[in-house]
Amino acid sequence: MYNLESFISELAKRNPGQDEFIQAAKEVVASVIDVVNDNPQYISNKILERITEPDRVFSFKVEWEDDNGDIQVNRGYRVQFNNALGPYKGGLRFHSSVTLGSLKFLGFEQIFKNALTGLPMGGGKGGSDFSARGRSDSEILRFCRSFMTELQKYIGPDTDVPAGDIGVGAREIGFLYGQYKRIRGENTGVLTGKGAGWGGSLVRPEATGFGTMYFADEMLRTAGDSLKGKRIAVSGFGNVAWGAVLKASQLGAKVVTISGPDGYILDEDGINTDQKISYMLQLRASNNDIVKPYADRFKAQFIPGRKPWEVPVDMAFPCAIQNEMTLEDARTLVSNGCRYVIETSNMGLCADAADYLIEKEISLAPGKAANAGGVAVSCLEMSQNAQHLFWTRDEVDQRLRHIMSGIHAACLKEGLQDDGYVNYVRGANIAGFRRVADAMCQLGY
Ligand code: GLU
Repeated sequence: MYNLESFISELAKRNPGQDEFIQAAKEVVASVIDVVNDNPQYISNKILERITEPDRVFSFKVEWEDDNGDIQVNRGYRVQFNNALGPYKGGLRFHSSVTLGSLKFLGFEQIFKNALTGLPMGGGKGGSDFSARGRSDSEILRFCRSFMTELQKYIGPDTDVPAGDIGVGAREIGFLYGQYKRIRGENTGVLTGKGAGWGGSLVRPEATGFGTMYFADEMLRTAGDSLKGKRIAVSGFGNVAWGAVLKASQLGAKVVTISGPDGYILDEDGINTDQKISYMLQLRASNNDIVKPYADRFKAQFIPGRKPWEVPVDMAFPCAIQNEMTLEDARTLVSNGCRYVIETSNMGLCADAADYLIEKEISLAPGKAANAGGVAVSCLEMSQNAQHLFWTRDEVDQRLRHIMSGIHAACLKEGLQDDGYVNYVRGANIAGFRRVADAMCQLGY
């Protein structure tokens, strides 16, 4: 029989200094421990011990030359966490906060997220502590080339398929894929998030943001409500936030905030015109990592150095980075009347913030369910590449909608409590875990 506290304290001892990984593991193990203790097969197969240990981790040096002719050194990683369900699949993150511990948390989350999609993908993650802030496009190109020169040794279309994440969008995927092809001479589905003109899937750029709104739509529908007219706070301003804002406006909701490391924008008219929404893409492409220019351009308010969770809204969508919503933020949101929190960033909520929202019976969607649309469409991109075919925008979007509604149904089935509250966090963890654990039992050790 497993005990949560002793299992987690052993895990922490084996992984010193990897607090985010321990946080992610604790949340999953807390949700599934009763399921494991009730299942002799999971116990005898040592599923908990095996699922919390990555299959392997690569760490490598990335040397590149900046525009002044100076040599720069970064560290690159690929964490191949678990391939019970299919090839390792998960993004690459280029951000100054990247460490082995943060990529282990992301790779671990990815296992269960990918399982929830119902598609054949294992879990992995990679990246570097490289930051594009203030860098020129040619510096980003030289970094990407050097990174791929090493990464290409470990990946392949049927073994490990990276994609984008924070700091890795269409531009970086282009540079990385270009280098892969230069070295290997192959056109394969080895990366997803490719440009639509060279092997990418339509709707992949929008997929994480669209998927999170489809998931929210299902939550509201289950509660007899709808997105129409909902006032929404979004954090972040990158690819994920952009897709979420676009779909929210199409579905008749009103997004009033976006944010960056410099502060947040409050646009009481709503971020809902083509001009405003496509301006977010320009902000991302500028390499400055700030949102203030939006306020200057569209006469909105800019609140420096603060987060958008102090704005009264019906729904909040953290779309930036892990642990971006604290307990204090969650309390403020609830006291201002917010009833739905849709975690769209990976582990966007601090553990105590999530516990508080669940205790208050606020509907909280965990990132591994709500943001799974991105990786789901990545898998659709792999399918199209394998068949040498392209699907229409409509076809991909329909499939995405269907997958998100399947994830919602799985969370509902495992997370519905006797009092009618849906604990989506618990539901997602149990549904994802069961699929991987069953496969691991069947595959043997
Ligand atoms: N980085 C995204 C995620 O966190 C997408 C991964 C992928 O498409 O492989 O799920």
